[in-house]
Amino acid sequence: MKYAIIADIHANLEAWLAVKAELTKENPDKIICLGDIIGYGANPKECLDEAKVSCDYIIAGNHDWAVCGLFDVNSFNLYAREAVEWTDGVIDEKHKDYLKRLPVTLDIDNFTCVHGSLYHPDEFNYILNLDAAAMTFANLKKDICFIGHSHSPAIIVYDENGDINYIDSEVIEIIEGKKYIINAGSVGQPRDGNPAACYCIYNTDEKIIEIKRVPYEVHLAQKKIIEAGLPHFLATRLAGGR
Ligand code: ZN
Repeated sequence: MKYAIIADIHANLEAWLAVKAELTKENPDKIICLGDIIGYGANPKECLDEAKVSCDYIIAGNHDWAVCGLFDVNSFNLYAREAVEWTDGVIDEKHKDYLKRLPVTLDIDNFTCVHGSLYHPDEFNYILNLDAAAMTFANLKKDICFIGHSHSPAIIVYDENGDINYIDSEVIEIIEGKKYIINAGSVGQPRDGNPAACYCIYNTDEKIIEIKRVPYEVHLAQKKIIEAGLPHFLATRLAGGR
């Protein structure tokens, strides 16, 4: 089985369509979205409609829930809050009803999916270090946990001795007896210094997980953000992948 795992589209239609074009070539059996389809970018409706059609499974992100009142927007920074308010004025009630019903976790095959972390999934905690990773490994019943949320791709392994480490690679072979946290990066707002859209492929037959990048027309997404009246920083950050 070949899974494509995508996260944090963030209403960036140009990035999402570029990833979708790659997925047409990859031809995965299933596409899983780890949440935050909306927020920050200028095309929340279009991205939601596209994702609903393309993805086999979608779980909730903090932005998805913030816009329908299920997550406290006061925990957001100023740019994120402005984006939530703007998005709220653009999407329809039917979109909000859909977002409200999204689950926060998904168990499938030998892996679990969550937007932030398995430590209270509905709190959308970040895994930004190995201590936070340990709290998710402690709650992980499957072999692998796919996450998004930080917008930085990462691979973390928990080995047979209980040691937890980052693996500095875009591709890994899954080894029995070890557990993994895979951050699939962000489609629509990468923050690892690389502006190219990011996604992840998991081939369960080959036991290979690969983080992939695809360039997209950043300037078009930026233009739309500025024309929409969203904060300029949300446009400029896309060019630097930050
Ligand atoms: Zn996000």
